[in-house]
Amino acid sequence: MIRINDIIDKVSETHPDTDMDIIDRAYIYSARVHEGQLRLSGEPYLSHPLEVAYILADMKLDTVSIAASLLHDVIEDTHATPQDVRDMFGDEVFHLVSGVTKLSILTFDSSQERQAESIRRMLLAMADDIRVILIKLADRLHNMRTLQYQKESKRKEIAQETLDIYAPLASRLGIYWIKKELEDTSFKYVVPEEYSKIETLVSKDMEERERYIETVKRFIKEKMDENHLKGEVFGRYKHFYSIYLKMINQNLEFEDVYDIIAFRIIPETIPQCYETLGLVHALWKPVPAKFKDYIGIPKPNMYRSLHTTVIGPYGERIEIQIRTREMDEVASSGIAAHWGYKEGMPIDENISKKFSWIRSIIENQENIKDPNEFLENVRIDLFPEEVYVFTPKGEIKSLPKGATPVDFAYLIHTEVGNQCVGAKVNGRMVSIKYELQTGNIVEIVTSKNHHPSKDWLNFVKTVKARSRIRQWIKTQDKERSMTLGREMCEKAFRKHRLNFNTLFRSEKMNQVVEHFNFKNVEDLIASVGYGKTTPLQVVRKFMPKTEMEEETGSIFDKIIGRVRKKKPKSGVLVKGLDDILVKFGRCCRPVPGDSITGYITQGFGVTIHRTSCKNALKMNPERQIDVDWDYKSTETYPVKIGIRSLARVGLLADITANISKNEANILDVNTKMIDNNGIEILLTLSVDNTHHLEKVLTSLKKVKYVQKVNRIGI
Ligand code: MN
Repeated sequence: MIRINDIIDKVSETHPDTDMDIIDRAYIYSARVHEGQLRLSGEPYLSHPLEVAYILADMKLDTVSIAASLLHDVIEDTHATPQDVRDMFGDEVFHLVSGVTKLSILTFDSSQERQAESIRRMLLAMADDIRVILIKLADRLHNMRTLQYQKESKRKEIAQETLDIYAPLASRLGIYWIKKELEDTSFKYVVPEEYSKIETLVSKDMEERERYIETVKRFIKEKMDENHLKGEVFGRYKHFYSIYLKMINQNLEFEDVYDIIAFRIIPETIPQCYETLGLVHALWKPVPAKFKDYIGIPKPNMYRSLHTTVIGPYGERIEIQIRTREMDEVASSGIAAHWGYKEGMPIDENISKKFSWIRSIIENQENIKDPNEFLENVRIDLFPEEVYVFTPKGEIKSLPKGATPVDFAYLIHTEVGNQCVGAKVNGRMVSIKYELQTGNIVEIVTSKNHHPSKDWLNFVKTVKARSRIRQWIKTQDKERSMTLGREMCEKAFRKHRLNFNTLFRSEKMNQVVEHFNFKNVEDLIASVGYGKTTPLQVVRKFMPKTEMEEETGSIFDKIIGRVRKKKPKSGVLVKGLDDILVKFGRCCRPVPGDSITGYITQGFGVTIHRTSCKNALKMNPERQIDVDWDYKSTETYPVKIGIRSLARVGLLADITANISKNEANILDVNTKMIDNNGIEILLTLSVDNTHHLEKVLTSLKKVKYVQKVNRIGI
């Protein structure tokens, strides 16, 4: 079993002048809270964090990471609280420990295999500090090393998850030694028969193969000596899982996988790497298109090496990697190699450059010529712009950053989107405008009678949601226009003693439709409803010429058509029209005193908006009409106000008393608790005018504990 002194010795090797106090304290604390707990192996639980810490010390990570790794299971598995960890070890350790804890809580079953890529990216996105992922990988590595103690039924599942998620994650970070170990241990549990088959086959002709390795090594070495090149040559077996993949992918029998051995040459300098390559190519014929220069063009995860495949002394393929010692180190520890001291630069400065590796990917982008690699890089580059959320069933969905429950709803199904009234995130109700966060579990609340609103277009982020909402509005508009157009036509025809319904399917109608260039009569009627064609234009086509000339009518007749009604009591004067139906915009709720403007709607009279109203600003100027308040009117008008206050007993009673004292009526009240002790009250009052409203607002501001009072509306 690893002891704390082994870890401290290891850390001192790489960081000789570092204070080990935090590691000591983390160890003592971890030992105390895990006391009495056992691993499935029967060992004291503490052995696990110690092993994990040792792996990280070996990877030359800093003291903060080592301390965090000693504490990585205390929040989840002991009585220790997040606050305890923060108080005792500071923000940085706390941040790492809680990051690892968050990742541990997520579980993925193997049916989600196809989502593996999303999960991997989600993990990377959730870990805002790459050290969280490194600790998680070390944790998984030790758990895989001790997987034989797990319940039989769980072994395969854990191994599959490791293969799907964690090994590729290690590979992406360039930590190939972890990737290989994770793959081989998982392989053993996922397909045990295949594993032991390869194990047996590899060991079968071991002696012969060892002789072969020696021969090849000697050839290379001799050639290097002749040319006065120093360096080492290694021959090694490829890891079992890569042999297995090769057999599967290329449909080969084991006997046909000849390159189960790979060679590596470590010259002293970069120029010598290329020289050595030249020698190898002079010695054996290179296989075309197998040569890769990752020294000239490093991989995004900083891997550098020359790769070549040649036809060896017995006509077999030999894979050879050539790189310097330093490159070799980076090749095995990847991103982690960059955490150590570099040219005397203190480690903290390295660490503070969180995600500097992503920056370097972007910087290297232009040097990358392989299109697949480029795509891969672009994806990494893009993922900070994505969030990953779960359905209630645990399915993972990726959305653009800033996406809302409405986007999520449309992603699930168009109907779910259309009927979305709200959402629960992690079990709590949120507004449909809520910005989804990675890791959220999202449940959409729907209602059969609910419909999308134009307003949604202002906050949705996905193309799908946007186009589905537009489509719905379009269909709705068309249906409404059809009904309206039909009514307008019926009325216009009646006025001229014609029956629209009997003429509807007539030959004459078809000619009229053609005349106006529509596909069918429905489109013509919809066009009337939209106000693009007037009913009069249609009816004229059914009348003798003489009668037609008598027809006159103002522009408003044409647009408004049938909606002239007896004068309603609105308190608004519409220029030039005294018997027009007047409505008030629900968006801005104008009251006398507000500057207002009118909008001629298609068949529904005039709607009054405040001139400052967002909707009024968007209107077609051709349909705008001057209006003014009729100050002789004694109407009252609804207006919405919002109050923010600290909650207290009797608050609502005081507010209502205050309002009635000012002679305003309350039409509607809505209260909502916000954060800790705050309350938000939405009221609809009826007031005489802006002066009256001002009086009410000023008075409400004086109520005890009230923080803010304002009129609502755009
Ligand atoms: Mn653990």
